[in-house]
Amino acid sequence: MVRSLKAFDLKGKHVLVRVDFNVPLKDEQVVDNFRIQAALPTINYALDEGAALVLMSHLGRPNGLSQPVFSLMPAGEELAGLLEMPIKFSHDCISSDALDTSLGLKPGEIHLLENLRFYKQEKQNDSQFSRRLARHGSVYINDAFGTSHRSHASNVGVAEHFKHRGMGFLIEKEIKFMDKIMRKPSRPLLLILGGAKIDSKLALIETFLEKADTILIGGGMSFTFLKARGKEVGGSLVDETMLSAAKNIINKARTKGVKLVLPDDVICGQALDDTSPKGPFKVSSIPGELMGLDIGPGTIKKFMSELNASRTVIWNGPLGVFELQGYHVGSFKIANHLAEFKNAGKTVIVGGGDTAAVINKFNLTEKMSHVSTGGGASLELLSGKRLPALESLEA
Ligand code: AMP
Repeated sequence: MVRSLKAFDLKGKHVLVRVDFNVPLKDEQVVDNFRIQAALPTINYALDEGAALVLMSHLGRPNGLSQPVFSLMPAGEELAGLLEMPIKFSHDCISSDALDTSLGLKPGEIHLLENLRFYKQEKQNDSQFSRRLARHGSVYINDAFGTSHRSHASNVGVAEHFKHRGMGFLIEKEIKFMDKIMRKPSRPLLLILGGAKIDSKLALIETFLEKADTILIGGGMSFTFLKARGKEVGGSLVDETMLSAAKNIINKARTKGVKLVLPDDVICGQALDDTSPKGPFKVSSIPGELMGLDIGPGTIKKFMSELNASRTVIWNGPLGVFELQGYHVGSFKIANHLAEFKNAGKTVIVGGGDTAAVINKFNLTEKMSHVSTGGGASLELLSGKRLPALESLEA
């Protein structure tokens, strides 16, 4: 069992918290603070309980080198602004100075450590490194869901040094939603799959062939399935190496009674960056020089009618090249349709970095039951895999 933050007596304790402050920066300013905001419930609760907090995170890919452009200092300033209180910052996560600052913290104070990935030992889950990190506190809380599918020093190695270890509110919320879906979803359960790459989602598809009642497939990956069904798809994206896997999935769905729904029509362009959309075309009559870049109106209607018949929806992957104005319509209309589901007592879970970006772009995050903060981690959890960072918290 993994203990929740609320299970600990935090009064007067030094609590080491692994947060995910991997925020986008521009000119040493935080461009989007959603990940810092997401950590506030854990931070505020621990402060209110009388703890002193040492926060640690990674940011970007500094490849084991101390590089000022990847400093967490701007994230610290953003946090100080949000909490309206000063926070201490150390330019190194394991130096003696940093450890001294942590040891000298008083209840209600916060100390943010510099980017963990300035040390290559972080990603190597190096035992000396995690032992040193562990000296910052006497209670360890992991609230960085986005990295929980990785075995790193700050989320796996460090945990074994603590008798008192558990998860923060952000991870707890993610697990609660995913767990319910995996164990006992309200049926019918429908999976919407999109995006470009099938191979990264194979495990997810396999899992949902056992669980889902219906699977809708859009986006770039739908063309490999259409081709596997014998359709010519013009110049659309087809992963020839995945054709037999796609055939396999189609057959399995048939034998298991899972309804697999593919697009009937698509909006096309000459290339991935063609800004003048053409069509709609039936999938069987896409001109050779064009590629399908969004689902068409007939498909949107068909998908909506399948969605209406479902009670739980999981969405992973955009249904078109949503980054371009001409090909965002399918994702936009489906997202807006799903925005009505929560009020109707249905559950909609959105997972994966790109899909979360779609929902964010259309300002619909609040309308979904749950938008997962972790791309890879949510994919693994939904695929039924165990997350190493959570296993290491087991008490
Ligand atoms: P993935 O990382 O596999 O989830 O793929 C996400 C990407 O798929 C996004 O950047 C979309 O632009 C892209 N995408 C969606 N639909 C299509 C399509 N029909 N053809 C090519 N790329 C697509």
